[in-house]
Amino acid sequence: MFKNDYFLDRELACGCCGKNLFKDDTLLRLIRVRERFAKPMVITSGYRCPAYNVNLNATMSHASGQAVDVQVALGRAYRLIQIAQEEGFTGIGVRQKGSIGSRFLHLDDLGSIPGERMRPTVWSY
Ligand SMILES: [Zn+2]
Repeated sequence: MFKNDYFLDRELACGCCGKNLFKDDTLLRLIRVRERFAKPMVITSGYRCPAYNVNLNATMSHASGQAVDVQVALGRAYRLIQIAQEEGFTGIGVRQKGSIGSRFLHLDDLGSIPGERMRPTVWSY
């Protein structure tokens, strides 16, 4: 294992069952981003078990343990997008409307999968 001073198991675990199959490589990437970001990163969703993910009608990146949603807005969101790109996150989902507290960025490091979006890519909610 490796040193993780930043993210708690319960932050990265499934919101319905508490299972945590978050990928080590993605967590290491996330830690590199966090160290450069140098500010708290509030994770609102990490690993999701397939059943929970289907309920949310979401892409497979959370169920693969390779995605987080980070509550962040405005200037910090601008900076986080830059660092995430530089550290190799290949999927960036942007929700930056509505109340400040509801704004977030989705970050994942999936590779290109046939039939899915080519990587790198960006989308909005
Ligand atoms: Zn679950």
